[in-house]
Amino acid sequence: MPEGDTIFRAAEALHRALAGRTVTRFESAYPAVTRVAEDHPLVGRTVESVVARGKHLLIAFSGDLVLRTHMRMNGSWHLYRAGVRWQRPAREMRVLVGAGDVVAVGFNVPVAELLSTRDLARHTELRALGPDLLADAGSDQTPFDPGEVLRRMRTRGGDTIADVLLNQRVVSGIGNVFKSEILFLAGIDPFTPVARLTDGDLERIVGIARQQLASNVMTRTQTLSRSIGRRTTRSLDPSAKLWVYSRGGRPCRRCGALIHARKTGLDARLTYWCPRCQPPPA
Ligand SMILES: [Zn+2]
Repeated sequence: MPEGDTIFRAAEALHRALAGRTVTRFESAYPAVTRVAEDHPLVGRTVESVVARGKHLLIAFSGDLVLRTHMRMNGSWHLYRAGVRWQRPAREMRVLVGAGDVVAVGFNVPVAELLSTRDLARHTELRALGPDLLADAGSDQTPFDPGEVLRRMRTRGGDTIADVLLNQRVVSGIGNVFKSEILFLAGIDPFTPVARLTDGDLERIVGIARQQLASNVMTRTQTLSRSIGRRTTRSLDPSAKLWVYSRGGRPCRRCGALIHARKTGLDARLTYWCPRCQPPPA
């Protein structure tokens, strides 16, 4: 699943390319989107902003229309100069916004809808989102509220910290890669119930999460697709970018103990951790 930093970078790049420009072309493979676009044509409107909210990407147009997309597992947004050959087959195009010489194409984006700002404000999925770890780093300057994240974490005291970090209703932006990496950096066993962690532990975890997402936003190159180049170790060796993720059975980069991996949750996502650097609570 794309992590918050991926969606955030996609939104920033689309914002830079499209904001302030007039829409000259709009297409969608989704009949519901096409129908709204027929009644409320997009061509001729101005792109006002592109922002990420958790894993949702919102493109706002003049005249009170917002395109909401969610990438889920396989979706991605690409930016092209008009006339340039796409890197994905045209049949994977789900939604397209063109503005002069720039074309933004959403490939395999499984969720797309056109909304008014009023619909958006009432949108249950968006309203339920926990504070966005990258909120104040982007073009929409909502201040990040760590106290609110802690409050939401405390309502899930029986859940493991690994599950809570993935719960977008608690805090939005963390996917499976960062989940394992953040807990390694915090020295916390992923299966610790939240109720057994102190406020200090939780604050530290949230701080590391913010730092990791933000530094990945800053350092990564301008590809809009997924997960290439994410790093947490600061190593210059490209094969040593991550501490534990996807390293089951291999030695810990810090202590040499073997990294463990375990499938958890309904969708059996893998959690990676070092049993020595991340001991269970006493
Ligand atoms: Zn270790």
